[in-house]
Amino acid sequence: MKRKFRPGTFWSLVVIHLLALVGIVYWFAHGFMWASWLTMATMCVLSMIGISMGYHRLLTHESFVSKLWLARLLAVKSALAIQGSAKDWTFWHSLHHAFSDREGDPHRPTEYPGLRGFLWAHCAWTWHEVLVPAGYRREPFEARFSPDKVKVEVIAWQTRHYWKFAVLGIAIPSFLVCGPVGMIAYGGAGGYLLGAFEGMFLAGFVRLVLTWHATWSVNSIAHIFGREVEERWRKVKTTARNNWFVNALGWFVGEGNHGNHHNYPKCAFLGWSRWQIDICKPLILLAEKTGQVRNVNYGPLEH
Ligand SMILES: [Zn+2]
Ligand SMILES: [Zn+2]
Repeated sequence: MKRKFRPGTFWSLVVIHLLALVGIVYWFAHGFMWASWLTMATMCVLSMIGISMGYHRLLTHESFVSKLWLARLLAVKSALAIQGSAKDWTFWHSLHHAFSDREGDPHRPTEYPGLRGFLWAHCAWTWHEVLVPAGYRREPFEARFSPDKVKVEVIAWQTRHYWKFAVLGIAIPSFLVCGPVGMIAYGGAGGYLLGAFEGMFLAGFVRLVLTWHATWSVNSIAHIFGREVEERWRKVKTTARNNWFVNALGWFVGEGNHGNHHNYPKCAFLGWSRWQIDICKPLILLAEKTGQVRNVNYGPLEH
């Protein structure tokens, strides 16, 4: 099937990869403050938790129902990752589950043979139009179809403000965190600028590139390599696998346990055993205990 090329997305990705490369060259030449590294790691974890707990488990799969404040917070954290608005991300991902490995799946590695298929599933699909199979409706994303009104409201709200949050996700770590630290570490206004530069390149561009490839690897690597999961709950066999490396690449937010996820997509937890690390799991359990989320779907972990 021929999909339209989206040059805006393609060239933005190229430019941000090049800017991340500038950051890495600067690192070799000059080094970064420890505070810049810490800010980068914090931004990675915050945005990846947003994607996994917010976009993925709450807004796409409705694995739990959240209070409005928490749903908004998760949606804002998701926007930091710059992987598309809540409306687009959740729709693309619902297509991925509805048509896994078949025509209609926006990023299946089987779209093309060999390496080309891998690259398509990894990143090339993002700069092509997503085709919607005839008859497929956006049901869960319209208030009249979803029982979770908070979710519907938050998807619309986040989509309206998406770019503001995305830009603030680079500006705040640069100018309000690393800039002031730079002023102390390097001294004066020059130090502030140097700190802000480090923040922008490390906690901004390098962080974006790292988290993009982490998320993309779920669609590419974890659909080709890894441990297959026994098909106890899965209605249709898919190529999804549990991949420890992909989980580590994704800062252990749980997404590498992708075989589990395809096996039981509505389950709020992606790590089902001790070594399948899923840092969103204790967060969801804590939110449930304190009454901030309810109707948590325990899937196969239900006793
Ligand atoms: Zn998948
Ligand atoms: Zn999913």
